Amino acid sequence: MTTLAQRLKTVQTQITDAAKSCQRNPADVLLLAVSKTQTVEAVKAVAEAGQTRFGENYLQDALPKIKSLSKAGFNLEWHYIGPIQSNKTRAIAEHFQWVHSVDRLKIAERLSEQRPTHLPPLKICIQVNIGNEAQKAGVSAEELTPLATAINLLPQLELHGLMAIPPAASNTQQQHAAFAALRQLFEKLPATRTLDTLSMGMSNDLDAAIAEGATMVRVGTAIFGPRNK
Ligand SMILES: *Cc1c(COP(=O)(O)O)cnc(C)c1O
Repeated sequence: MTTLAQRLKTVQTQITDAAKSCQRNPADVLLLAVSKTQTVEAVKAVAEAGQTRFGENYLQDALPKIKSLSKAGFNLEWHYIGPIQSNKTRAIAEHFQWVHSVDRLKIAERLSEQRPTHLPPLKICIQVNIGNEAQKAGVSAEELTPLATAINLLPQLELHGLMAIPPAASNTQQQHAAFAALRQLFEKLPATRTLDTLSMGMSNDLDAAIAEGATMVRVGTAIFGPRNK
């Protein structure tokens, strides 16, 4: 087994243990492998070890990987989790199945308009700035319901839930508090048939996220090691 496959297995075990320790079904916590800055060879090794969901932050970095792995016969699910500029929405709508980082109606409208109609609707999470940090992307709690309501009216989008990157925490209590706050916002969203995703938890805080209800954890360094520059 390669190191990457071993690391993947370790993370899968950590997720299973975290779920069991709070009486959750491990199958209810999905793993998104965050492959930003990693090579196509590294992604391929992780895909060969059975991982199917991959997250990317930078379009230019992602497209060659998506194309080459598709050509190689891998049937993978690609999640866009980075900042979105208007001039990138078309390529995102064409090449990804999920977008976790929607925080503006204008971007949502473009993604819906540009999603090819032969593809299923693009699955969306709204990014919430859970710590109200000036430098971070995401909507505030007040902006959330209006944006969710508007996205629910867009034909080629399907709202699945919320995503957040909480403020750096100095202890696990702070990690739990931020994730609990996101879960509470999720529970107040206008109910729809597709609402099923709380995208929260990364390499360093996934146990707390799972205890607070994460249904998808986004893990980069714990699987791939340090990011390439
Ligand atoms: C980079 C990134 C991750 C993964 O972070 P790690 O600490 O490497 O696990 C998760 N989510 C988002 C939005 C990211 O940008």
